[in-house]
Amino acid sequence: MTTRVWDYLEEYGAEREDILDAVDTVFSSGRLILGGSMRAFEEEFAAYHGMPHCVSVDNGTNAVKLALQALGVGPGDEVVTVANTAAPTVVAIDAVGATPVFVDIDPDTYLMDTTQVAAALTDRTRCLLPVHLYGQCVDLEPLRSLAREHGLVVLEDCAQAHGATRNGVRAGTTGDAAAFSFYPTKVLGAYGDGGGMLVRDEDIAQRMRRLRYYGMEERYFVVETPGHNARLDDVQAEILRRKLTRLDGYIAARRAVAERYAAGLAGTGLVLPSVAPGNDHVYYVYVVRHPMRDRILKALHDHDIELNISYPWPVHTMTGFSHLAGRTGPLPVTESLADEIFSLPMYPSLPERTQDRVIDALREVLAAL
Ligand SMILES: *Cc1c(COP(=O)(O)O)cnc(C)c1O
Repeated sequence: MTTRVWDYLEEYGAEREDILDAVDTVFSSGRLILGGSMRAFEEEFAAYHGMPHCVSVDNGTNAVKLALQALGVGPGDEVVTVANTAAPTVVAIDAVGATPVFVDIDPDTYLMDTTQVAAALTDRTRCLLPVHLYGQCVDLEPLRSLAREHGLVVLEDCAQAHGATRNGVRAGTTGDAAAFSFYPTKVLGAYGDGGGMLVRDEDIAQRMRRLRYYGMEERYFVVETPGHNARLDDVQAEILRRKLTRLDGYIAARRAVAERYAAGLAGTGLVLPSVAPGNDHVYYVYVVRHPMRDRILKALHDHDIELNISYPWPVHTMTGFSHLAGRTGPLPVTESLADEIFSLPMYPSLPERTQDRVIDALREVLAAL
């Protein structure tokens, strides 16, 4: 059987009764949209983070987009972020009419190089958008100081970092707002699409609630500005409530996989993930690096193991973002990384025998290079 980087069927087998009960709970409740499950999930997700407000939405891209709008970021504004991210981070910036400005990444963690942010600021910069990529946190302290000094907002893209901490502080609790995705592969994943935003400020939370509901507060009355339809489905919300109670267990299981990989692959020449001091990594993806990446992927494919690349094309090199050309300086670390990284199978229910199969195949292939 082909080994894939992600699979949910093992987990579904173990949690099937609970998931089906969640579906039945919503179907039987008499309220399918903006119902009790959605509100309960928002309260519980906020409480998990010790935050006053969670506003749920239909996916992570809209979480970034609505958070930007609620923070007042729009046409003419510049948003400083990274090109080594999932395209949706930048799709959302583009969708609100703002211009992404990319800084390069740290060569060890592959996260935003925060020392480059000050030089990227202009009088149009409005927002700093760090991405807690792969499951570990960007150091937000230097970004917060810059934001204070220059009157900017900080939006954390937490789509890959549910439950991750830095110096004991959870991802999503430091910036002016945070955006999460609950896409099925994510560390907290639904059985379909989902997303959410965390925010401390009551007025911004209220604006987020309006933006996901056409711009309405009371029914049938658009208050401030036309919004979107971006509601989280109650069925997904109820499933997420159930899975939130198991989130710390999923994270522990991911860490155990990472430890097994690290032990099994030490000394092979693969560059293994580097965890920054103070970070507790949640291993959304397990990213390794090797100059002969493409040969390794092909050889693993011959072993019936399909690996993935997160991400093969830095955002600024994609033709769909060619309208940004010329605005971004060279990003040498980002660009060389994209040719060398790949990700190993990673999900909480990944059987140990499959982990060992991946380790053995990689050891064999690397020894023969
Ligand atoms: C998954 C992801 C998103 C988008 O989430 P969707 O739910 O797929 O819209 C945004 N940013 C990052 C970093 C992601 O990994």
